[in-house]
Amino acid sequence: MTHHEAVLEAREIASRVLAPYAAKNDKTGRFSAEAVQSLGESGLLGLMLPVDVGGSGLGPRTFANVTATLAEADASVAMVYLMHILGSATISAARAGATQAVTPILQEIGAGRHLSTLAFSEAGSRSHFWAPISRAHRNGDGVRISAKKSWVTSAGHAQSYVVSSLAPEGTGPTDSTLYLLPAETRGLSVVGSWDGLGLRANASAPITLEDCQVPSAFQLTDDGAGFQTMLNVVLPLFNLGTAAVALGLCRAAVAETVSHLKTARFEHLGQSLGESLPTLRAQLAMMQIDTDGLAARIDDLTDHLEKPRETTMLRVLECKAAAGDVAVSVTSTAMRICGGAAFSKYLSIERLFRDAHAGAVMAPTGDVLREFIGKSLLGMPLF
Ligand SMILES: Cc1cc2nc3c(=O)[nH]c(=O)nc-3n(C[C@H](O)[C@H](O)[C@H](O)COP(=O)(O)OP(=O)(O)OC[C@H]3O[C@@H](n4cnc5c(N)ncnc54)[C@H](O)[C@@H]3O)c2cc1C
Repeated sequence: MTHHEAVLEAREIASRVLAPYAAKNDKTGRFSAEAVQSLGESGLLGLMLPVDVGGSGLGPRTFANVTATLAEADASVAMVYLMHILGSATISAARAGATQAVTPILQEIGAGRHLSTLAFSEAGSRSHFWAPISRAHRNGDGVRISAKKSWVTSAGHAQSYVVSSLAPEGTGPTDSTLYLLPAETRGLSVVGSWDGLGLRANASAPITLEDCQVPSAFQLTDDGAGFQTMLNVVLPLFNLGTAAVALGLCRAAVAETVSHLKTARFEHLGQSLGESLPTLRAQLAMMQIDTDGLAARIDDLTDHLEKPRETTMLRVLECKAAAGDVAVSVTSTAMRICGGAAFSKYLSIERLFRDAHAGAVMAPTGDVLREFIGKSLLGMPLF
């Protein structure tokens, strides 16, 4: 699959499978298994995996485009896709000792039959996902893990979970190890349902691990090297992907606002809202300027990821921090422009507005990113 073909596939799935059901799934908090099935059949689940396991070997540019395209129709599905791509990338980057065990799983992902996700956040350390409270304990040829994972996108729907836990002999708060837990692992269970303000259709429920036995073949990183994988593999793609979700939301908000301004009318004046009110046109223009600004920022980050340089990590941090704010600002403006039609849920704007608020909450949160950027500018240690 080429970049162009991947984006066309995403467009086709977005219009045929996502858009018609997004509002209903949002209302009922229903996870779209059909969306995942279509993404699998199209080859998009294996987008970034190497060709030798059945993937397409495509890069961050295609990932960002596909994710933004999905988000334009349904941000919940886009977030499921994003967490899957991160899980897949982490499994694909596994240490040599895990290659044999994870290769069949990568092949299943390449064949579009396996959905993965990340289970990092813990109830005890909240948004500080880099500091798990749980600790793996050696047990025969592997470890046993008990943990309270507070939010896991695709919980109960994924076939595997990439889980963090403090390394058995780790001494510091970030000395974690990453493991792969198949969904059927004994002791792994979804606890509770997901009833969020936004991204309601992505099943981000908590899971618990109770004495889960994990064989060493499913230890994805060296002992204590989980943090490095979080920083080098997960963070750049997560920040790029959440910015792409924000972009999709902004584009959808602009399109819906344009449509409303063209169709809603002041009958007593014989004009559409857009024809009648310069203030609404000016606010719409700001939405477009901010949306295109975010797209340019995402292009810039993609370029930095394709050609890494000294400023790459700074751009990684900046992009997600900025995207969260832009998405909230653009969708808030759309709420204001569309007034009662948006407020009464007649339009999809209020779903976009709610979904847009998730980006800044998801770790690393906007606050944490700004804190990291400030510290790094001042030459202070980040952790
Ligand atoms: C829709 C959704 C899906 C998710 N999916 C997953 C998933 O698949 N896997 C996963 O592991 N996690 C997932 N998460 C969890 C997410 O990444 C965060 O860990 C979680 O939202 C923590 O929220 P909290 O408000 O409890 O964090 P808290 O730490 O309680 O944060 C509260 C406030 O304090 C601020 N804050 C915290 N620390 C600092 C600091 N050092 N400096 C400045 N401000 C700070 C925060 O910005 C926030 O405003 C998901 C979350 C959401 C909303």
